[in-house]
Amino acid sequence: MSTAITTVNTSDALADDDVLSDPATARRLMELALDYGSKLEGATAGEVLEWGAEHLRTPLAVTLSMQDTVLADLAEKHAPNADLIFLDTGYHFPETLEVADQVAERYSNRLLSIVPKRTRAEQDAEEGVDLYKTDPTRCCALRKVEPLAAVKRPYEGWVTGLKRVDAPTRANTPVLEIDKTGRIKLNPLAAWTDQDIEDYIAAHDLIVHPLTKQGFPSIGCATCTARVAEGADPRSGRWAGSEKTECGLHL
Ligand code: SF4
Repeated sequence: MSTAITTVNTSDALADDDVLSDPATARRLMELALDYGSKLEGATAGEVLEWGAEHLRTPLAVTLSMQDTVLADLAEKHAPNADLIFLDTGYHFPETLEVADQVAERYSNRLLSIVPKRTRAEQDAEEGVDLYKTDPTRCCALRKVEPLAAVKRPYEGWVTGLKRVDAPTRANTPVLEIDKTGRIKLNPLAAWTDQDIEDYIAAHDLIVHPLTKQGFPSIGCATCTARVAEGADPRSGRWAGSEKTECGLHL
């Protein structure tokens, strides 16, 4: 059983070799995607993770927002060598950090918490105070997109919790795709509904993020997540009042 979170700074992660710098690896991953993309549509989430664990030559990187812990539970059961990845932007709700601690305690997979190159104070000094208000796209780039790109370097494939029901922009999410870097990107929950998530949480007595029961059905950074009225679009509380709907991790 794991007991501690390993914190990794983005600058240190960038020092790792990028496995995709080998053209043979890029070709092999593309061939895998072509061979198995349609076959994995309809597979269970567990089967998708088992496929990744079997066919890739590195452990999987399973990204967790800590809004729920379904992927952590599935990873332990179906991809026990996978690493769990949490992007600690420095702006999370305290409750989100508590869920991360509980995940590290409960599951045997290693949990890596990747922090941006700059602290909040350093970012304020260099980019202007509260960049999330003045330029949230740049803030997400510095505190989410760049750290994820860095931490992915040693992995041939990564796993997301994207669901087609999350948003119209995610309606065509495939189970297996190749991302911009040439890595395999697995979305084992693509076909799941919100009810599927609730049922899995209940059936397996998972850790529950307390704010999901207090009007926050979609949880990101505390500075950019508002409470949502009952019946409203669950993601309407993310960057509320702006045109922004995605952090950029999946573009
Ligand atoms: S969600 Fe908000 S605070 Fe978090 S990284 Fe993006 S802009 Fe910055």
